[in-house]
Amino acid sequence: MYKEIVDYIKNLYGNKDFIPLHAPVFQGNEKKYVVETIDSTFVSSVGAFVDRFEEMIRDYTGAKFAIGTMNGTAALHMALLLAGVKQNELVITQPFSFIATCNAISYIGAQPVFVDIDAKTLGLSAEKLEAFLVTEIETKNGSCFYKKTGQRIAACVPMHTFGHPADIEKLVEICNRYNVPLVEDAAESIGSTYKGRQTGTFGLLGTFSFNGNKTITSGGGGVITTNDPSLGKMAKHLTTQAKVPHRWDFVHDHIGYNYRLPNLNAALACAQMEQLDAFIQNKRETAAVYATFFREKGITFVQEPEGSLSNYWLNAVLLKNQAERDAFLTFTNDNGVMTRPAWRTMHKLPMFQNCHRGDLSVAENIEARLVNIPSSVRFES
Ligand SMILES: *Cc1c(COP(=O)(O)O)cnc(C)c1O
Repeated sequence: MYKEIVDYIKNLYGNKDFIPLHAPVFQGNEKKYVVETIDSTFVSSVGAFVDRFEEMIRDYTGAKFAIGTMNGTAALHMALLLAGVKQNELVITQPFSFIATCNAISYIGAQPVFVDIDAKTLGLSAEKLEAFLVTEIETKNGSCFYKKTGQRIAACVPMHTFGHPADIEKLVEICNRYNVPLVEDAAESIGSTYKGRQTGTFGLLGTFSFNGNKTITSGGGGVITTNDPSLGKMAKHLTTQAKVPHRWDFVHDHIGYNYRLPNLNAALACAQMEQLDAFIQNKRETAAVYATFFREKGITFVQEPEGSLSNYWLNAVLLKNQAERDAFLTFTNDNGVMTRPAWRTMHKLPMFQNCHRGDLSVAENIEARLVNIPSSVRFES
């Protein structure tokens, strides 16, 4: 049966010898815009494409403020700082995610606390979050504290896994009730919507990534979104070394970061943004084709949750158990079709194995069975 799957995927992607998991597609104005930045000499810290990109993100997502950054991890770090996370505080997140989420928390000297995911969304579970807060925290002066250690719960970071929106409305409602700022890690979900509204616009702050393997790419890049004017202003200020604007004086009023998005990358980002809707439509068609194919094979294909529209960044199947998963991984990778298991869950990594956690049985079950399969935009060649 695995042979049929390999043949099917190869056929979908033009019968190449090797089918990557996710390759970027540059068929629009990418070269034109990149050459424009070189001709202008404004390849670095400032430039027209940075402003244009931030405006495109605001228009597309509906967020009032968008601040470009050099990558998604920097965007997350900055968003957590702006949400008020401090050293030795705790940040609730899901163990089923890319390492960047936990790394960003660690840069502040804060620690992740792991709450399980929902089997339907693969994002943070609203039920488990609520149960965790009810039993494990106490509130004092409007803040939440972890009973066992007395540490403040400074933020909550759900992630929209593989582009599928988490149950974000419920998560926001719970976090608001407990007065815990919510930062949305929307790195994988540009263009995905929950009840018609763009992911990355529900929390106090949202972050996106435009790394080379994401739905659209700027080479490296990210963006912070928020509707809060003071946070938006501060995000721009802190990501640009906190320099006080002046014609010649070099004065800085905070410890700042060199996290800005270079104009060269912003040029690529603008060209890719122009194609985002077409890419998402193309990816959704591929997902629909996969869904039908795998249903006939009796293999579970991961689909968008009800009420949401996913960008289907990375398609995924669920095998029956780890042994089947490993057989699937071996056969496909041996035969020119790149597939990949889910990330090793964060609480199993040496840096995070001692972090506090709730019951993580769903994340562990999914981790053992999930495989990502080729998901690039398909184009006629
Ligand atoms: C890609 C990604 C990021 C950010 O990655 P960068 O490579 O720094 O742009 C953050 N979180 C998740 C879940 C991601 O998949």
